[in-house]
Amino acid sequence: MRLFVALALPDSLRLVLAGLAGGVPGARWVPAANLHLTLRFIGEVQSWQAQEIDDALAAVRSRGFELSLAGIGTFESAGRVTTLWARAERNERLSHLQQKIETALQRAGMAPERRRFAPHVTLARVDQVPEAKLARWVQAHSLFRAEPVLVEHFTLFSSQLGKEFAVYTPEVDYALA
Ligand code: ATP
Ligand code: MG
Repeated sequence: MRLFVALALPDSLRLVLAGLAGGVPGARWVPAANLHLTLRFIGEVQSWQAQEIDDALAAVRSRGFELSLAGIGTFESAGRVTTLWARAERNERLSHLQQKIETALQRAGMAPERRRFAPHVTLARVDQVPEAKLARWVQAHSLFRAEPVLVEHFTLFSSQLGKEFAVYTPEVDYALA
């Protein structure tokens, strides 16, 4: 199965984010149900590994916090903008949680994540979008800010890749103190 660790987002926040969709011809907006903040992508594992991952995540101790999304950013690949996202504000507890998860997963045998943690919520895949259109949209939404939300758990999701969108299933929630 294909796994990743993420923060599920409350309905209220997902509705606000879904409300940003539109105005970028060719963008593939993430359906509201799929909006999340990835803490660690795991990828394909055997079920015995999934069990070890679950054990490791269950042992993570970290505190709850308020999550604030503010600002819009993009990821590029090979000189093309591929992804449009909402930025999570700097947050010590979020970073701490992410580090704890990283350490736990390495102990469970996962190879270290090499990429720096850049907390974000993917809004759309935009690899088919003319850059000028995208730049205009990003500029128009640069002051985006959502009400802070309380984060009281993190979640191990499975992901089934589909033709249009992946289907994510929350497998286990882990409480934060
Ligand atoms: P698709 O790949 O079909 O576009 P998806 O990216 O929504 O679907 P997954 O590929 O299963 O679904 O990814 C699940 C989550 O993990 C997403 O938030 C994705 O951005 C993130 N992710 C996927 N691959 C990586 C990776 N190599 N490094 C970091 N995060 C990743
Ligand atoms: Mg993917």
